[in-house]
Amino acid sequence: MCNIIGEKSENTAVSPVERRRELSLPKEQRCGIYVHVPFCRSKCRYCDFTSYPEKIGLAEAYMACVYKEMKLRAEELHGRKFASVYFGGGTPSVIDAKWIAGAVRRLRELYAVTPDAEITVELNPESVTAEKLAVYTAAGINRFSVGMQAASDVLLQELGRAHTVSGFRRAAALLRGKNFNADIMIGLKGQTAADVKEAVSLAAESGARHVSMYALTPEDGTPMYGDYLNGDLPDEDEVAALYNCGRAALAERGFYRYEVSNFAKAGFASRHNRNYWQRGEYIGFGVAASSFIAERRFTNTRDLDDYIKCILTDHYPVVDDERTTPQDAKFERVMLALRTEEGLSLKAYAAEFGADLLQDFSAPLQKNAPFLEQTEDGCIRIKEEYLFVQNHILVDFLQNA
Ligand code: SF4
Repeated sequence: MCNIIGEKSENTAVSPVERRRELSLPKEQRCGIYVHVPFCRSKCRYCDFTSYPEKIGLAEAYMACVYKEMKLRAEELHGRKFASVYFGGGTPSVIDAKWIAGAVRRLRELYAVTPDAEITVELNPESVTAEKLAVYTAAGINRFSVGMQAASDVLLQELGRAHTVSGFRRAAALLRGKNFNADIMIGLKGQTAADVKEAVSLAAESGARHVSMYALTPEDGTPMYGDYLNGDLPDEDEVAALYNCGRAALAERGFYRYEVSNFAKAGFASRHNRNYWQRGEYIGFGVAASSFIAERRFTNTRDLDDYIKCILTDHYPVVDDERTTPQDAKFERVMLALRTEEGLSLKAYAAEFGADLLQDFSAPLQKNAPFLEQTEDGCIRIKEEYLFVQNHILVDFLQNA
């Protein structure tokens, strides 16, 4: 049997206050870079991400466009320091590693990427090789994120993943000693608590220092959506039980939760992710990439051909561009912070907005008082046992905005 959440302290060596201090990103580190690589070996059954397995032949032309987009944006971003870079997808490891290494080089030439920047690349087990890892490491990539998802071939097949459990073990052996994350999915058809525990064990034994544990979201238009309509997927309560089981298993293995879906060994929380949750700035390059710079949120087209055409004709490939209002800014800050174990410091809110959080959000704070707490160092956060169901709480904050 798995423990229910909240029963166990995950890391007794570090006090909660110290841990929150460790997670709080200094202002000078609040700026990241995201690069989208939209190619995969095949399409997973649940995938709604921007990925084009059938267009992998365009990878070289695409990356040349990404390099050009980096150049196009360089002048307007002059003066900013970037403390993290993240190559996501798609599957960045499916393309020639020299294109990723080239992108890191370009970024360092064009932007003030800090010498100690966290640089992550997403990998899928079937496309990891020792040669690729050597190229990544030589380029300064110091963190990896592997799409493990499950420790059962039946579940991996159900998801339509291109790898098997032994494929993950092979990849993890190549990554041993490196700083890597393993993704785990919950809420899968036929998935049991034992399956989730086994996935946690496999990730931990393989040497992962970070685990992202996400609930499957059945997106309309994917083959998996049919399973959802048929009632084949676990319901909300069953998913919550799987999550609690996974969380307890991660705690036993020394992973502490710092955000609803993210768990790390002490010192291995991802800087890039923390920047998002602290509402830091980021610039996104590539198809479908989103950016948040100078209170503007903008997103590139999801269409690969349009993206390439725009870049080749010296146009920004942006399709949505919105300026956030001061009210948006407050709501976003609260909403993102309440996803985290750290919560939101009353002092930080006052310093950023010149306002009192308790007054600005008095109605939702009062309504949700049973689910919230104030920590000894003045942070408001969702009580740990309610973090997974935070969406029900955040709705009230949205209505207040
Ligand atoms: S590997 Fe990721 S991006 Fe690629 S098809 Fe599967 S879920 Fe989608």
